[in-house]
Amino acid sequence: MTDAAPLPPSRLFFQSRVRRPRMAKAEGVYVWDQQGRRYLDGSSGAMVSNIGHSDPRVLDAMRRQMEQGTFGYRLHFETEAAERLADMTCALAPEGFEKVFFVSGGSEAVEGAIKLARQWAWATEQRSRWKVISRTPSYHGSTLGALALSGYRPLTEPFEAMMRPMPKVPAPRAWLDGLPMDDPATGAHYAAMLEAKILEEGPETVLAFIQEPVGGASTGALVPPAGYMEAVREICTRHGVLLIHDEVMSGGGRTGRFWGGDNWNAAPDLIAVSKGYGAGYAPLGAVTAHDRIVQPVLASGGFPHGHTYAGNPLACAAGVAVLEVIEQDGLLANASRIGEVLKARLQALAQRFPFIGDVRGLGLLLAFEMVSDRETRAPLPKNLDAYERLVDLAYAEGLIVYSRRSRGTEGDHILVCPPMISTEAHVDEIIEKLTTALTRFAAEAGLPA
Ligand code: PMP
Repeated sequence: MTDAAPLPPSRLFFQSRVRRPRMAKAEGVYVWDQQGRRYLDGSSGAMVSNIGHSDPRVLDAMRRQMEQGTFGYRLHFETEAAERLADMTCALAPEGFEKVFFVSGGSEAVEGAIKLARQWAWATEQRSRWKVISRTPSYHGSTLGALALSGYRPLTEPFEAMMRPMPKVPAPRAWLDGLPMDDPATGAHYAAMLEAKILEEGPETVLAFIQEPVGGASTGALVPPAGYMEAVREICTRHGVLLIHDEVMSGGGRTGRFWGGDNWNAAPDLIAVSKGYGAGYAPLGAVTAHDRIVQPVLASGGFPHGHTYAGNPLACAAGVAVLEVIEQDGLLANASRIGEVLKARLQALAQRFPFIGDVRGLGLLLAFEMVSDRETRAPLPKNLDAYERLVDLAYAEGLIVYSRRSRGTEGDHILVCPPMISTEAHVDEIIEKLTTALTRFAAEAGLPA
């Protein structure tokens, strides 16, 4: 431990609302700051570092790629790294997904997916189809196209004048709406709202529906109710509407399957992925789609889209190594197994703290939502800022968790999403630190504990 020297003022304005310590080292599930304090990365950053930090196999692969060259412009050279990553990605993707388009992040992946969908409509003479229906709440990215899909008013409102408004349907928040999760009628109820919206807009104008198979930051690990995914697939097919899965957070293995959507028998037409795909080793994302979408686009002259860094060999080499680690170390199975253990422990916490209203998620994409009344599911008073306060209290214990307002301007949920390499001992440590943070929060907020 060294004495904490005051940090010089930062010129960055994309950082946290409070000043955080500087990172010195990251390894496995832990991150250390420059004062030598250790933090358990209980949210894998922003659900990114799925295989843990500084895996030597990924670092070696990146080093080897750096020695060969860090950049080869995709219009000038093919690279082994990009070709291999595309092969591996298609092998994991639903049947008929034969081509991949690389990008550098989640917003780019979503933009690429909706533009590829539109290019397909253009190429197949369905030019009246341009609307992309999405859900509220949702988050699909910060660039204007992806933001137009994002059902989260505090982020979208200032920019609405600059965006084409896109139709929205309610996300299937069965718990919040007081509906049973395992009754197929619940899934049918939410899917019917999608169909009603398609009919209201005019099916000939609707290009696609985009959803997160397991919700991320905006909904707090929302798992769809029984029957929903299958019904959505059927409705999209019947109306000629493409189904896009935003797997930016749920893809890459976190739910226990490589794609979150693989937890249901309802394959999408297009997939956008990032976060756990590069697992924090490099800015990386991808769009992949069924050949019935890609081939007409290629036949019509190609996809006029791209970013300079797309297919960057260093990022792709990292991606290849990340996928190899997931496979070699059986991390999908571990995410399922440890996810069950962690979820059960979070449910036990809900027994102890009555203000934990719901514990949900799949694999290691887990969250809990806080309420002032479990029966009515009324949120905690807004001025408690529980979502921020709990993050800070956990941080003080050396535990990193991720949080958002769950209902637009009110409501609070906390995502607990440690890396897929986590063990039972890590779960113990998470629960111990979280218990302390929750106890402190309850005391200062005057809540029962
Ligand atoms: N889609 C989803 C589901 C996400 O969770 C995010 C990031 N939180 C994005 C898109 C945007 O990704 P990025 O921040 O990498 O642009």
